Amino acid sequence: MRPDLAAKYDLRLPRYTSYPTAPHFHPGIGAETYGRWLAELDPAEELSLYLHIAYCAEMCWFCGCHTKITKRYTPVAAYMQALHAEVGLVARHLPARMTARHIHFGGGSPTILSAEDFVRTIALLRESFAVKPEAEIAVELDPRTADEGYVEAMATAGVTRASIGVQDFDAKVQEAINRIQPYEVTAQVIGWLKQYGVPEINIDLIYGLPFQSVAGLIDTIDKAVEFGPKRIALFGYAHVPWMKKHQRLIPDEALPDTETRWRQYEDGCRRLTETHGYVQIGLDHFAAPDDPMAIALKERRLHRNFQGYTTDSAATLIGFGASGIGSLPQGYVANVGEIHFYQEAIAEGRLAASRGVAVSDDDRLRRAVIERLMCDLAVDLDAVAARFGGSGGQFAAELDSLAPLVADGLCTVDGHRIAVTEDGRTLVRAVCAAFDRYLTRGEQRHSKAV
Ligand code: SF4
Repeated sequence: MRPDLAAKYDLRLPRYTSYPTAPHFHPGIGAETYGRWLAELDPAEELSLYLHIAYCAEMCWFCGCHTKITKRYTPVAAYMQALHAEVGLVARHLPARMTARHIHFGGGSPTILSAEDFVRTIALLRESFAVKPEAEIAVELDPRTADEGYVEAMATAGVTRASIGVQDFDAKVQEAINRIQPYEVTAQVIGWLKQYGVPEINIDLIYGLPFQSVAGLIDTIDKAVEFGPKRIALFGYAHVPWMKKHQRLIPDEALPDTETRWRQYEDGCRRLTETHGYVQIGLDHFAAPDDPMAIALKERRLHRNFQGYTTDSAATLIGFGASGIGSLPQGYVANVGEIHFYQEAIAEGRLAASRGVAVSDDDRLRRAVIERLMCDLAVDLDAVAARFGGSGGQFAAELDSLAPLVADGLCTVDGHRIAVTEDGRTLVRAVCAAFDRYLTRGEQRHSKAV
């Protein structure tokens, strides 16, 4: 990527994990609508479930997640009681005991749970839903809070994938982000995962962190690869201190400048692909060539949801927990973020949905276009539009608006086909933005495009 383009396109753009994106969710979608949407689901459909564990033991200063810090287990236990009640409540709204094929524990820190609470939660899900024997059960794992007993409980409960938060192994970077996690701690947890038979391991890394150097990031990548993960994510740190106040504890001057950030990203990608043989997926995911994600990419079956790239094609994702977001055929729905209000709603037997957005036919079409661009870095507008009874010709204005990106070599337009170039991969969000009907200048206060 030419440095002039890196600077020119330093835009603040959505990550397109949904469309319409979260800032367009509104309070008009609440418990009543959500209840109706759940009841209307096709009972034969298979579900994906997301459970948000909204607590952590300590705040990492780079954190962009919805979480609350606690040193005590009492609030966590109360939260889990509400979450268990919510699972029952949602299940009662469904037209039948539906099948689940994908379960994801995210947060916050799922590993803040006691092993007993974790096992109880999985058991409850199995009672409330027909969890397929081959279902993927994934857990985001913080090595600092996962002990051997927890890992053993995960394996026994049938967890198939652990996503391990590493970020960077450099002690100075760890200190600057308030996440002290020595290499040995990560190595020990991975050893337990292997010992107890959790089959798949992902490792999450971040570039653009304070005091992070290009060489340091490469060293972290090399160390991470030695653990043999089938998937690695290399996310860009999203510095949004106006939204996440704790990020103010990261001094601006310690952050890499735009050019260094680009170099970290580009050198990091090259290290993972050229040196270590991973296949790059979209912007920030890397998978071993024989991993289902790399195969789905090849077969153009990859999807995008709130967790990023996924092989999960379920049309319905149900979100549990405070701030949990669901995606249903009718639209998106998000639970109230404040834990207190969440618990109050559930205790009163109400669904905790507090905002969302119904998706129109136009939204569905644009979402499909954006998803193909984010996943395949290419889209055939005619083919996608045909699935919705339209044609690529309806996007004449959007194609025109891509002219500056074409001139800069970021994408090509051939009739109604768009292909993002390798130079443009890092700016794929700018190509997607051409199809985002909701994006206005004043709203471009997301994170950096790369
Ligand atoms: S452990 Fe994860 S969710 Fe918790 S504060 Fe750190 S980054 Fe945020």
